[in-house]
Amino acid sequence: MQEPIQEHIQEPIQEPIQEPIQELQWITVLGATGSIGVNTLDVISRHRDCYRVFALTANTQFDKLFEQCCEYQPVYAVMSDESAADKLRQRLAEINHTTQVLTGERAQCDVAEADRVDVVMAAIVGAAGLEATLAAVRAGKKVLLANKESLVMAGQLFMDAVTEHGAVLLPIDSEHNAIYQCMPGDYRSGLSQVGVRRILLTASGGPFREAALSELAAVTPDQACAHPNWRMGKKISVDSATMMNKGLELIEACWLFDTTPDHVDIVIHPQSVVHSMVEYIDGSVLAQMGNPDMRTPIAHALAWPDRIQSGVSSLDIIATARLDFEAPDYERFPCLSLAVQAARQGGMAMVSLNAANEVAVAAFLEEAIRFNQIAQVVEVALEQAENNEPRDIDEVKRADFEARQRALIAISRLT
Ligand code: NAD
Ligand code: MG
Repeated sequence: MQEPIQEHIQEPIQEPIQEPIQELQWITVLGATGSIGVNTLDVISRHRDCYRVFALTANTQFDKLFEQCCEYQPVYAVMSDESAADKLRQRLAEINHTTQVLTGERAQCDVAEADRVDVVMAAIVGAAGLEATLAAVRAGKKVLLANKESLVMAGQLFMDAVTEHGAVLLPIDSEHNAIYQCMPGDYRSGLSQVGVRRILLTASGGPFREAALSELAAVTPDQACAHPNWRMGKKISVDSATMMNKGLELIEACWLFDTTPDHVDIVIHPQSVVHSMVEYIDGSVLAQMGNPDMRTPIAHALAWPDRIQSGVSSLDIIATARLDFEAPDYERFPCLSLAVQAARQGGMAMVSLNAANEVAVAAFLEEAIRFNQIAQVVEVALEQAENNEPRDIDEVKRADFEARQRALIAISRLT
């Protein structure tokens, strides 16, 4: 028997006007003063009923961390730099603030693995973030991973630790967060099992996508850091300009989604509106789109599996009008080729790639080498990389140290 239509009309569907009520979550933000850290705190500030800050960490910027302590009242603030920690302590004491200031790498790990912590935002830049990110993983936390370098360095050991300790790993890198959103829930059983054919990893192409190749030798750090679509820290901005960032992201995607470089295609998409795509065996291609604003992946991962407001404005698809896609130019971006090579070569090559790149980018930012010499330094360090897999984190650290030495020697020969 059909139900009377009238009853449906009399009971209008209630639109949810409030966001899902979550239990209070305690969060540690590693790298709070950086671009990702600041965006994370911006999202948290919109949901103060849901999130409390347990700890904020930073390297040297005590004045910025002081302001964040006043605003977010963390239980702990950790500064890697001891003299910066002293200054922060002094400023907090002047206003009788209760946040306790700690220092050192062990303290960064302590605040990542503390019992009270539910969520850890891993947003330290570079290899410096490895230990604390791994501490969060080993403590079985919900880990929001921005620090892609730790996964590039220690991929297998990192992913094994996620499984062993039952951590929940959610990608913050906009591309990987997009891929995650386009994957079926059971993708961990294997991409071929769930009908995924390939991943399409999008890249803006950075500020030098169309520059004359002859001009690249003369570009300044400021020009390299002027990304057309994103405001980010200096290291990742230079990585975007050389496209090493996309190489690191290719490796990151292989570890996160348990796949090989052959199943990840890099696509240049200058508008940065499509954040990446997943193609299925039936020909369906799912894309995640939105304005280029890191608060979207941060809010997605923070609230997962729920959704919360992020402060990001609606995508104006009419104003966007065009979405362009093109193949990457490996001649223009030799760092991208080197990363693909390292991904095929194995674990130690990826450690060397990352370490040499960090040293070369720092040298470029100090104007000790030219922009196009970054790839030369990485290439030299990669030539001598071992071909095996690291068996533990100490081996990763040793290979990281040795690659840094090789990179420094290569730099001294260039200058
Ligand atoms: P950033 O340079 O703006 O900030 C880095 C943070 O790490 C700062 O808080 C700094 O104090 C801290 N830090 C630096 N060196 C440290 C050290 N030796 N010990 C302890 N702390 C240290 O960098 P960012 O742009 O926020 O990037 C952070 C991470 O997120 C990187 O791994 C980057 O690749 C990744 N990421 C960033 C973006 C972005 O939009 N900024 C997007 C995707 C991924
Ligand atoms: Mg990215």
